Amino acid sequence: MSDQPEASSSVDAVIVGAGFSGLYLLHRFRQLGLSTRVFERGGDVGGTWYWNRYPGARCDVESMQYSYSFDEDLQQDWTWSEKFSPQPQILAYIGHVADRFDLRKDIDFDVEVTAAHYDEGARRWTVETESGERVSAQFFIMATGCISTAQIPTLDGFDAYTGRTFHTGNWPHEKVDFAGERIAVIGTGSSGIQVIPVLAEEAAHVTVFQRTPNYSLPSRNVPMTEEYERSWKDVYAERREEMRYSGHGSLKDLNDKPALSVSEEERQAVFEDRWETGGPAMLGAFNDILTSQEANDTAAEFVRNQIRRIVKDPVTAELLAPKTYPIGTKRICIDSGYFETYNRDNVDLVDISTAPIERMTPDGLVANGTEYAFDSIVFATGFDAMTGTLFNVDIRGRGDTALREKWYAGPRTYLGLMSEAFPNMYMITGPGSPSVKSNMVMSIEQHVDFVIDSIVHMREHGFDLMEPTVEAEDDWVDHVQEAANKTLFPRANSWYMGANIPGKPRLFMPYIGGVGVYRRICEDIVENGYKGFRFEAKAAAAAE
Ligand code: NAP
Repeated sequence: MSDQPEASSSVDAVIVGAGFSGLYLLHRFRQLGLSTRVFERGGDVGGTWYWNRYPGARCDVESMQYSYSFDEDLQQDWTWSEKFSPQPQILAYIGHVADRFDLRKDIDFDVEVTAAHYDEGARRWTVETESGERVSAQFFIMATGCISTAQIPTLDGFDAYTGRTFHTGNWPHEKVDFAGERIAVIGTGSSGIQVIPVLAEEAAHVTVFQRTPNYSLPSRNVPMTEEYERSWKDVYAERREEMRYSGHGSLKDLNDKPALSVSEEERQAVFEDRWETGGPAMLGAFNDILTSQEANDTAAEFVRNQIRRIVKDPVTAELLAPKTYPIGTKRICIDSGYFETYNRDNVDLVDISTAPIERMTPDGLVANGTEYAFDSIVFATGFDAMTGTLFNVDIRGRGDTALREKWYAGPRTYLGLMSEAFPNMYMITGPGSPSVKSNMVMSIEQHVDFVIDSIVHMREHGFDLMEPTVEAEDDWVDHVQEAANKTLFPRANSWYMGANIPGKPRLFMPYIGGVGVYRRICEDIVENGYKGFRFEAKAAAAAE
């Protein structure tokens, strides 16, 4: 990019992405009086909730908690209609926030950022878009989310297939009519588990191709009651503060007893109660489910038995019951009638755990030596999570260091916020932060506030460059792995570990030490003069 023409415009900050992160960043940058451009590849605000509009898409963090907390009037005014919000309502909420704070006028939609290069002399980033526009900025922020690069597996014959194909993470905007169709769904993660029951209601037949079964818990979603809403809104500020220092950024009922400290009878009663409560409550049934294999086995067996109880055909039930990894170490799924769907006459399960789908054909696909014909194939095959979207942009820092090359063996960040050699570049909920192991909106707000406070700090001290030190970054990378190794998480082939993408390094990418713990670490770093970061003043640079 260095041989190309100068940037055509100059701003204080360029933000990539207009989801929860980008919008709040823009709002805060404006309050600081900084000029800002936001580039968004979608046609409107919303990020994840703009793209993942497949039937049945729903958040599995409670509505009262999965929302911004930065503005008291906003959180008091907005009303959710269900305990767990459906995608259209979350998208409407994000649109409301954009209107309420008049954010759209600084956002360029349908614009893909292709490159961002750091100019050491000027101490500025040049950000380039697909159309060739080049913008110079002091600060460059990737607010691109953790799960935003949809992944369709490479299959021979893909182009020859004559039916329709869809990916849950890139779903059409107009309603798709599946009535009377034979549909394949490939993938049984959170997205597959949500879309399958809805498609089964509409289509003539649904065939599910399952590589790995997932533990899924019933959501027990219910309409929002005025009473429940009031119970939150009356004390919203206090509840939000509690969430900020909680384990996962949301309030959950966590039992502080180890699973094996109680009798078998009591343990089963606790599990039953959690299963009836619904949502992710099961993982908090005892305090060691994610750290002790023995404790985990008891919860896993309970869920397997629920599957065996719900699914009438014993062979299908056994295929749906996960046995190869501890419960909770692949992202727990929350469903509405998922296992019950397999009792329908128009739903079949095909186990592809021992041999992958062989190829696609003009009519469908071949698996386990059998040829299947489909009118539509739905890929619920997930994402190149945490790093994929960062790598889609050619990001180059000091010394022309490419982010992709620096991270070839896995992401290297300090706090999941910045990476050495990339001054003044921030990642919101980047790898090495609680991110996907937390209530994302809470973590987004914390990171945005950290970035804004850092910039205020720089202004107050006459600095114009901020960057982590190599030592701080190395220590943090080690700490992230140490935290993961104290849990059972590394035992699963999950996307947390990069295991769903062929060739991706295997290591646990989010920080599992806890949202409150992480927040305190960040606060301590700030109180100690931004320990682990180095700053440079403009005058010093000019003198060099
Ligand atoms: P995912 O969890 O990565 O699931 C992808 C599924 O596709 C897995 O079952 C995977 O099998 C399968 N798969 C991938 N490649 C395949 C291949 N080549 N052949 C056959 N099967 C293949 O993706 P996701 O369901 O889209 O969910 C991603 C994340 O988004 C979730 O974990 C969650 O964090 C978030 N999400 C949240 C919600 C919610 O809030 N309710 C809803 C949707 C998504 P393997 O397991 O064997 O890899």
